[in-house]
Parts: sequence; C-alpha cells; structure tokens
Amino acid sequence: MSGSSDGGAASRLTEVLRRTWGFEGFREHQREAMEAILAGRDSLVVLPTGGGKSLCYQAPAVAMECLAVVVSPLISLMKDQVDALVAAGVPAAFYNSTLGPEARREVASRFRCGELRLLYVAPERLMGEGSERFLELLRAAGPRFVAVDEAHCISHWGHDFRPEYRMLGRLRQHLPGIGLHAFTATATPRVRRDIVEQLGLRDPVEVVGTFDRPNLVYRVRWRNDLLAQVRQVLDAHPGEGGIVYCLARRDVDTLAARLARLGYSVAPYHAGMSDEDRRRNQEAFVAERVDVVVATVAFGMGIDRSNVRFVVHAAAPRSVEHYQQETGRAGRDGLPADCTLLYAPSDFAVWRSLLESSGEASPESEELLGHMWRYASQVRCRHRALSEYFGQPHRGACGACDVCLGELEPVEDATVLAQKILSCVVRTGQRWGAAHVTDVLRGASTERIRSAGHDRLSTHGLLAGMPVPEIRAAIDQLVDLGLLTQEPGRFPTLSVTEAGWELLRGRRECALWRQPVPARRTGRGGRSVRRDDASWEGVDQELFERLRALRKVIAEERGIPPYVVFHDRTLREMARLVPRTPAELLRVHGVGERKAREFGPAFLEAIAAHGEESLED
Ligand code: ADP
Ligand code: ZN
Repeated sequence: MSGSSDGGAASRLTEVLRRTWGFEGFREHQREAMEAILAGRDSLVVLPTGGGKSLCYQAPAVAMECLAVVVSPLISLMKDQVDALVAAGVPAAFYNSTLGPEARREVASRFRCGELRLLYVAPERLMGEGSERFLELLRAAGPRFVAVDEAHCISHWGHDFRPEYRMLGRLRQHLPGIGLHAFTATATPRVRRDIVEQLGLRDPVEVVGTFDRPNLVYRVRWRNDLLAQVRQVLDAHPGEGGIVYCLARRDVDTLAARLARLGYSVAPYHAGMSDEDRRRNQEAFVAERVDVVVATVAFGMGIDRSNVRFVVHAAAPRSVEHYQQETGRAGRDGLPADCTLLYAPSDFAVWRSLLESSGEASPESEELLGHMWRYASQVRCRHRALSEYFGQPHRGACGACDVCLGELEPVEDATVLAQKILSCVVRTGQRWGAAHVTDVLRGASTERIRSAGHDRLSTHGLLAGMPVPEIRAAIDQLVDLGLLTQEPGRFPTLSVTEAGWELLRGRRECALWRQPVPARRTGRGGRSVRRDDASWEGVDQELFERLRALRKVIAEERGIPPYVVFHDRTLREMARLVPRTPAELLRVHGVGERKAREFGPAFLEAIAAHGEESLED
C-alpha cells in the first residue's frame, strides 16, 4: 500500500467487520475497495446488487475513526442505512429535507464535534442552491472521504439519470483533500467511463465484480396461464417475500385483485396510485406485513428488504439491463431466490408502443428489446447468457436455471417438427412473421390466411392440435439455432437460412425443448411449507418461524424493518446452531456485539422456550 495509507486501520478492518457486523470475513472485492479508501485513492466500485457495497465505505469510516459523507439519491435509502448502522452501534445520521431546523442543528453539531462516522446526504444538499453554508460546516468537520452511491445516476447512459448528480463534479473544489469513491451495481463500460469523467476521479482504483448472482435461480416460461403460473411461484414460497412485475398499471390492479381474492397476502404498487397508498404498501412490504407486491417498474429503487425470495416478471422487461436490475432485488442476503420470467411475443409490441408514446423509441431501444427477446427465447444456461451479455465469461452448467436443472422436456422427433415449420415458412414465401406461420400450421382460417390462399397449402393444419405457445416456442428456438432468421424490428418476417435448408434436406438434425405444463389448480392449495433446498439443511424450521415472529415484534416496537434487527440468514443459522449462551450467539453469522447485547436476551429466551416445548412434545 502507498505511504499515505493507514496501516493500523487496515488491520482493524477485519476486527471491525467481526465486532460491529458479526461477519467472519470479506466478500469478494470488498477488501480491495476498502483499501483504496484507506490509501486515500479515488475509486470506482461496480458490484452487483447484494454484493455488499455499503460495507465498503462504512467499515473504513469505522476503522479510521473518521467522518465519511455518503451521497445517496433517495431519502428512504438513507433512512434504512442509518437505521441499520445505528442498530449495529455505529454513529450515523442523515441530513435532509425531512429534518426540521432543530434536528438539523443537532446533526450538524454531532458531525462537527467528530462524533459521527457516517453522514448521509442528498446530492442537492452538497451542490444545490443554498449549499454553501452546509459545505462550510462540512469543511470545518473535515471528512476524510465522500462515497457516491448509485453513481450511475450521473450518466445519461445509465438507466436512472438524475441531473442533480451532474453537479457533484465540482465536489472536489469544495472539499479539497478528500478521497472520492463511486459505487454502482450496473454499469456498462460506457457508463463507467462517464462516471470517472463527470466526477473527476483521479487515477481511480477500479474494482469491477462479477455480475453473476449464483444464488438466483432463473427460469423463463411462455406465459400461457398467467394466474396459474404466478401462483405456482407464490405457493412454493409460503409466507415469504416476493415481487411480481407487470408491464402496465392496469395489469397490476387486475392481478393483485385476483391474488387477493384467492387469499394471498398482496399489495399493488404503481405510479398511478396516490403517494400515500404507495408509501403504505411499500412500508407494509418492508415491515413484512405483506408478502407479495404486484408492481410496475416504479417499484424497486430503495427497497432494501434483503429477504426477497422471488421476483416474477409477468411480462418481459424492456432490456436485459432492466431485467438484471429488477431480478437483482431478489436474494440480497445471498440465500437462494427464484427469478421467473413469463413472456409472450406481444410484450415486445406493447413495449414498442409504450416507448413510442413516451418519446423514448429509438434504434437503441429497439436493439435492447431485441436482446431481451433473444434472452427469453433461447434455451441455454441463463446465468451464462446474462454474464456474457455483460461482457463476462461464465462456464455454464450453473445448476441454478431451468435449462441446467433439466426442467425443460425434450421435444420428441424435434427434427421432424423443425422440418414442418421450416417448410411452412418456405411455402408461405418467406415473407411472414411467426404469428401467421403459426396460424397456418395449426390450420386456422383467418381472413388473412384465406386471402393469401394459405388455407390451400399442404402445410396448412400440419400441426393442428399442437398448442400455439409450443409452436411459437419452437420457432423461437429455430431462430436461436440459426435455422431461421428473423428480420429485426417491426415486421419480423421469417426466412430459412443455409443451415435451415440443410435440415430440410435431411442433412442435419436439431433438438428442441418444451416447457413443463403448469398444473392447473382450483382451491388455494400448496400451503405446506416446501423448503427443501440446501440452505435449509439442519435448520429447525419451527424455531426459525418462532424467531421470525419475535423479530417482527421487536421491529414493530422500534419502528425499524425486521431485517435491520437480524437478516434471515442470521435467523436460519440460529435455528441451525441453536445457541444457548451469549458467547454462542456471538458466533452466529450477522450477530455483532451491539446486537448481541440488545436483542440477544430475547432471542436466547425464545430458543430456550422452544427447546423446552419440543421436549414436552
Ligand atoms: P449492495 O449495496 O451492494 O446491494 P448491501 O451492502 O446491501 O449490498 O449488502 C447486501 C447484504 O450482504 C447485506 O445483508 C449485508 O449485510 C451483507 N454483507 C455485506 N458484506 C458482507 C460480508 N463481508 N459478510 C457477510 N455479509 C455481508
Ligand atoms: Zn444454467
């Protein structure tokens, strides 16, 4: 490390992690990111959601016993982080418009006297109108470094551009001598360059983690029965938190109402609702009073609930970047979580018209939709496909996607099916899209078919009786296999490739896959707890539920989210290790000294009571 580094603090980091957070060690890249801060360098840190970015700037502030300023775009985010820090015994506060003059003075006096370690502020507080006085106060307090969270907001190319962020480029002039550190979860190389330039980072240490999230189990399904397919996911996660993303507000309202009627614990969320209703539903979800939020993409930023166990997309999102971002809200605690994409070709048409009416349609948006379509329609390891999309290699065979888990069924006589489809494309003149070709194959008698004379073709009705989604899925796969090509854009007509002709001539074979048909259900059903994945091994599930209930009571008493008390992972480990003494409790992942003192007695008591009851049984 360079001469300006703080060697004592570096060795304290591990200690701080253990004593304050109850963590045994660093996650990948955390140490590198923290050392850049200790060394007084600038840095750009790109780690996936749940990768542990916040610790990268929190732990150094504690280890160096200095003040750090954190720029954060959302008030709810600031509050969550400050709550969590305070619960872990770290002096932290936010300074924003929700505070009255009195409270502001108090916070200011705390950072001036050197008591605070972390101070959270909005960008406009530092750079907007009337920020001079605040900067004056801050300069006097002498923060060692500034961490800019959600730094992609500074870039026009990011998916969340915020004009206030642009002004942060002048931060260094106001606070000379500080280290500047940018953090984000999603950044293509273009956005990364933009962040460095706009913030004026000086020879920054760049830490870029892997985007793959191995604990997420990805599945893609044709949407052939939305309600049944959504219920299938919900029923696999009784009493657990999840998000269902819909494309439009109307869809949110309909689906939420239908699920509620069936007895599920759901709340809707979209931009058409009043602020008040939205806030209430979001809070209910974070406080675990509601299991499932059915939402448009308006829901998500600032939701720090770490135990989201599933994310369902009821329709395809507008880009793979968005998909990554939205599924990234699942499993932030590192435990397994399900991400299920339900899609149909009409989703892309809907997006096109939405983007057009909002003035966002462009060749780029069309290209991004095309990538999303390919991700959905291809049958290959999903982890690998996502990693490669973000420019990172992945060895495949992940064991955590529908393809690698062998959930798709091989189509019998796939080559014959492919020949039927390809010959129909040829017979109809290679100038129609998948919908029309499908209609011809299943023997429909639409106006268009009759006027084109396609009802007289030998391929008309060749696949009568085969469900439409299956035909369409097969066509998608033929495109992905390079046997068919599809024109990009609005009129995606199909034509047969060179390889396709070889298959037609019997010189080539292919394999095709079919998704399992969801079991139709009538009543509520599926309530039995089905927790059989490895993360539950050795966990006393009854004890876990008991501890979860206790956590909820404590959280409600204090007005903080349950995960601020303890994460699910910590509760599961308690229910596996069954600690009996404070010392044993301290060995549980996620139990630091402060929390052990504060919450330990109640949890140990609950564990003891559970032990006695099980003996009586
Ligand atoms: P991000 O901001 O990158 O999305 P967070 O900072 O919210 O991620 O961290 C995600 C989760 O990982 C949190 O529950 C956090 O407590 C946990 N975590 C972070 N670092 C570690 C670590 N070194 N060991 C164990 N858990 C960690
Ligand atoms: Zn896979």
